[in-house]
Amino acid sequence: MSTTSSPLTADVIQRLEIWPVDIPITDPFVVATGSRETAQNLFMRVTLGDGTQGIGEAAPFPEVGDEDRISCLAAATELARTLVGQSVADYAVLADRLTEQAPFHPAARCGLETAVLDAYCRSQAIPFWRLWGSADVRARETDITIPICSLGKTLELSRSWYAKGFRLFKMKIGTDVEQDILRLHAVHDALPDIGFIGDGNQGFSREDCIHFVSGVKQFGGRLVLLEQPVLREDLEGLQAIRHLTGIPVAADESVRSLEDARRVVRLQAADYINIKIMKTGVLEARRIAAFALSAGLRLMIGGMLETRIAMGCSFGLVLGLGGFDVLDLDTPLLFSTDPVLGGYRYDGPLLHPWHQPGLDMQVPCQTDCMIVQ
Ligand SMILES: [Mg+2]
Repeated sequence: MSTTSSPLTADVIQRLEIWPVDIPITDPFVVATGSRETAQNLFMRVTLGDGTQGIGEAAPFPEVGDEDRISCLAAATELARTLVGQSVADYAVLADRLTEQAPFHPAARCGLETAVLDAYCRSQAIPFWRLWGSADVRARETDITIPICSLGKTLELSRSWYAKGFRLFKMKIGTDVEQDILRLHAVHDALPDIGFIGDGNQGFSREDCIHFVSGVKQFGGRLVLLEQPVLREDLEGLQAIRHLTGIPVAADESVRSLEDARRVVRLQAADYINIKIMKTGVLEARRIAAFALSAGLRLMIGGMLETRIAMGCSFGLVLGLGGFDVLDLDTPLLFSTDPVLGGYRYDGPLLHPWHQPGLDMQVPCQTDCMIVQ
């Protein structure tokens, strides 16, 4: 690695490393569309001409993004070749180029984009969020996800998170509506002052969802948001559910591009858009967020099964752009290990900002990585 490069090549990408990382999940992560016991992600590292580095993460989730780790690694390696020799100051142009080259590999693009942006911010000695505007730099509260599991396990997990200070429970639902109502009822009876998000991951029919909401209303549960109850194409279903239940609806799987977001707005299909960098890449996520706010929608932000690298990138958007009402940035807490050092910090349900350059994170060096230079 050269540390004596000329100013002309100081911010030019010299080298990219990509390597697989398996992160064990403490309790099986079961949602309506699939289940996981290990997050199978990719970490990426960019090195610039002056030795500055940046890191990124791809967290492919096949049921949502149609990518798995093998296809993601192949796409990222191919895309990395086009990044070598480019200046990280051109991050916006590079992001568009990645999208043109690999429109159907958002997780691969997201990891590379994050690494490029992290390296750029480090080279400018600014925290990652400063790039987006420093609009809302403060500690923020996240919800916590309870996967689809037995009644007993639901209660055990809920009590344990409650004791750590969590008050907004994102309940995975959508495979058995009666059981879903029973699970929420039990948690409601056991724990005072909690709110629920119901995330169906496309598992409900319209009728199931309306039945679910009336069941929760009957026992007095506070349902603050319904996330993607029906199939992603069924925007009319989302619209009907909003109007028939009076509960705000968030479009998640339905929005994987700016064009999708425009369609949701046109059909008045949702109150919230769930922004996820893994669905779209980072710059496109910013465009969707700005568009949604300008159209009068509200913003939620979430992730796939991500470590603090990708989640730090998302938290950076929250701090920099502002306007995010609901944070679902909890997946690092669902893992039994944290493979990353530095960066933002969790304190119960609170995420605390960092103030050092880039994402301010370090990951150990790998020997079994794909190197592009
Ligand atoms: Mg969701």
